[in-house]
Amino acid sequence: MDLGISGRWAIVCAASKGLGLGCARALAQEGVNLVINARGDEALQAAAGQLRELAPGIDVRTVAGDISDPAVRRQVLAACPQVDILVNNAGGPPPGDFRDWQRDDWIRALDANMLTPIELIKACVDGMAERGFGRVVNITSGAVKAPIDTLGLSNGARSGLTGFIAGLARQPRLAGNNVTINNLLPGPFETERLHKTLSAAADASGTPVDTLAAQRRKNVPAQRFGQADEFGAYCAFLCSIHAGFVTGQNLLLDGGSYPGTF
Ligand code: NAP
Repeated sequence: MDLGISGRWAIVCAASKGLGLGCARALAQEGVNLVINARGDEALQAAAGQLRELAPGIDVRTVAGDISDPAVRRQVLAACPQVDILVNNAGGPPPGDFRDWQRDDWIRALDANMLTPIELIKACVDGMAERGFGRVVNITSGAVKAPIDTLGLSNGARSGLTGFIAGLARQPRLAGNNVTINNLLPGPFETERLHKTLSAAADASGTPVDTLAAQRRKNVPAQRFGQADEFGAYCAFLCSIHAGFVTGQNLLLDGGSYPGTF
């Protein structure tokens, strides 16, 4: 299927590794020009090299820096001639007990996982609507639907974004002008983050990391972890000309982990 987005421009935040890179790879394969961002420049340049090799015809630009920093967001926006596609992503907040969190911890989580995507959306969607095409995809978490108690900062900040998007996506000014806004909710995907989480759990429990990983896989009905490239393929479809009637949705990619009917 031709996704019909060749020659478009996309910003993919937090894209040097993991799910963000998976999205950038899938868009690159569709001929989409890219502005990618991450804090560490070395991995970002390596990712850009990989994308150029994958799709030699596209333009790939990089902006290194923390996407929750307003100056970095300005640079990212300035690097993109026209934002047709915006993929919002950032690292998740740390786990812990809410009794230990101070106001600053909450502000950091809200900044990265709620206010940053909202600011980028604000900068892009009206232009998208004027041009009659726009796709916004926010990478959130399966924890929005099935909260994990130790990830309270993530549950709270991402739920705030989810509630806001539910209203915004339905504005006729946006939806009526072919601008869609959807959230992708990953379950367990095999990325650096997942490996770090498993290693930390292995250290804390004394259980070998391979045993823990096998247990986690068995808890997923699909009996495996997701792969970043399959996450990217789903994202690229949502960004395609074929997905113009899908907006305001929270789409789980979790191998069947969420146990509910709806
Ligand atoms: P990952 O493998 O650790 O990759 C994270 C990427 O984001 C890296 O490129 C990282 O590069 C970049 N990044 C992190 N914080 C950033 C910031 N403030 N500004 C700019 N770039 C930043 O993580 P992932 O597994 O792909 O996870 C992506 C998102 O999905 C996270 O929010 C995570 O919580 C969520 N999620 C993941 C899973 C999963 O199983 N993988 C499940 C549920 C939710 P730098 O460190 O160099 O900045």
